[in-house]
Amino acid sequence: MYDFNNLIYLKEEECVGCNKCVVECPVIGANIAYLVDGKNKVKINEEKCIHCGECIKVCDHNAREFYDDTEQFFKDLASGKKISLIAAPSIQVNLDNYKNLFGYFKSIGIN
Ligand code: SF4
Ligand code: SF4
Repeated sequence: MYDFNNLIYLKEEECVGCNKCVVECPVIGANIAYLVDGKNKVKINEEKCIHCGECIKVCDHNAREFYDDTEQFFKDLASGKKISLIAAPSIQVNLDNYKNLFGYFKSIGIN
């Protein structure tokens, strides 16, 4: 089961503490630096993160990841489960034609 409170997460062992995620993040305070054995790491502050994915794009060390339940989503839909979809506000930034996407989802039975 996915932890939706931690949709974007840090793979701590991969993080080199370069702070690129902090620089690219549009939300002040959404990243928190901390030390592990004297080495800098940067984790996500879920109370502030808007799940825009910018830190995943910019991290050269593959240290940021997200839980992907897309396959399960379509399996559930195919099996007749009732699904309602709520889009995060960041969709307006990430997808130019997001209204067309909503039309598509509606056409395949999603509320
Ligand atoms: S998560 Fe990636 S970008 Fe952020 S400090 Fe760690 S290595 Fe650098
Ligand atoms: S997903 Fe976006 S808001 Fe969240 S930490 Fe990464 S860059 Fe910041």
